[in-house]
Amino acid sequence: MMAAISASEAGWNVTLIEKNEKLGKKLFITGKGRCNVTNDCEASVFFDNVVSNPKFMYSAYYSFDNNMVMDMLESLGCRLKVERGNRVFPVSDHSSDIIRTLENKLKSEHVKVLLNKTLNDIVVREGKVTGAVVDGKTLECDRLILATGGKSYPQTGSDGKVFDILKSLGHSLTFVKPALVPLTVKDEWVYNLQGLALKNVAFTLEGPKQKTIFSDQGEMLFTHFGISGPLILSASSLYSKKAFGQECMGYIDLKPALTPEMLDKRLLRDFESNNNKALKNSLDALLPKALIPVVIELSGNDPFKQVNLVTSAERERLRGILKKLPLHITGTRGFSEAIITQGGINVKEVDPSTMGSKLIEGLYLTGEMLDLDAYTGGFNLQIAWSTGHLAGIS
Ligand SMILES: Cc1cc2nc3c(=O)[nH]c(=O)nc-3n(C[C@H](O)[C@H](O)[C@H](O)COP(=O)(O)OP(=O)(O)OC[C@H]3O[C@@H](n4cnc5c(N)ncnc54)[C@H](O)[C@@H]3O)c2cc1C
Repeated sequence: MMAAISASEAGWNVTLIEKNEKLGKKLFITGKGRCNVTNDCEASVFFDNVVSNPKFMYSAYYSFDNNMVMDMLESLGCRLKVERGNRVFPVSDHSSDIIRTLENKLKSEHVKVLLNKTLNDIVVREGKVTGAVVDGKTLECDRLILATGGKSYPQTGSDGKVFDILKSLGHSLTFVKPALVPLTVKDEWVYNLQGLALKNVAFTLEGPKQKTIFSDQGEMLFTHFGISGPLILSASSLYSKKAFGQECMGYIDLKPALTPEMLDKRLLRDFESNNNKALKNSLDALLPKALIPVVIELSGNDPFKQVNLVTSAERERLRGILKKLPLHITGTRGFSEAIITQGGINVKEVDPSTMGSKLIEGLYLTGEMLDLDAYTGGFNLQIAWSTGHLAGIS
């Protein structure tokens, strides 16, 4: 939609081909239905949040950055607001308002929109695009912009089939993997904690050879298969990048604000105020109830031991688990639950200053289909807006 709008503004006669019965099916579900449309941050923060190929994004971002996206949407009548973490949403909290705003602009730009039409092939003559095959019929064109997405949430339309067309034309794909996706773990105690959310915890992921590949603080959630929540989704992008398909260790620091010494003092204080109680009944102020038996068991301590009899060695074991609760990560929940696709068309085959294919004249590639992905916060849509706009004006 963004590519169609900017191409039309640049004076081209534009037809938009969409295989769904309506536009923006994925946009509709973004930001839990509120659409985190971009991030109101400095340019350096945007690039820091792009996980794959941030340098490729320079021209596209500077030609249409977050401020330009916000100015455009507001000038078209869609009021925006900035929330925690500089995340930008429509004031209405409805993603449908973003879709409607773009649809209205497509209308006023006289873009011809073909719904329920699938691109099945691309006609190339002497290295140049001459047509798009849509449901078996060839539509002639001078230029073709692809914005068909990756492979995640295929029910929204992005099923990755266009990758096969591009491969048949000589383009290559980097390894395509789910990212920003919940992680599966094999520790059974996790499944019993499903629904429990932890705030202000730290999570560290160790890749092959015990190398730390991710470490950050935030919120996470236990589920019936493993772990999820914002902190884990971010961790998954690094899991997919550096350890995809491998079993690796994750560690939760349940008390990241406390040093081991501070935590020991805290434990002693809690034990003192629960003097005659069993260990299992003395940690209520420190931990969510459901987590207490797990922590005690993993620390190898006796849950029934009276706290005034707990030795310093036993306390140290408890502290060890509180600071480094181990999880055996086995994989991801796959494309059906992945917010983003990592990997895609090799960016080396695309001119970053136009989004034009270096292999086929008149073909432009944009958005999630490219080997570009970012963390949550509005950065992935910004990639789509920026690359779509640059392809349109090119
Ligand atoms: C649950 C969820 C929540 C998300 N929330 C956010 C968020 O809040 N903020 C953020 O920045 N990012 C978010 N994202 C990521 C963001 O939605 C994507 O990065 C972005 O939509 C990619 O845009 P795109 O145009 O490249 O592809 P898509 O949005 O996937 O659009 C591709 C379009 O091409 C159509 N298509 C595909 N193949 C064909 C074909 N052969 N013929 C015709 N049409 C075709 C599809 O039907 C689809 O409409 C979220 C993703 C998911 C799954």
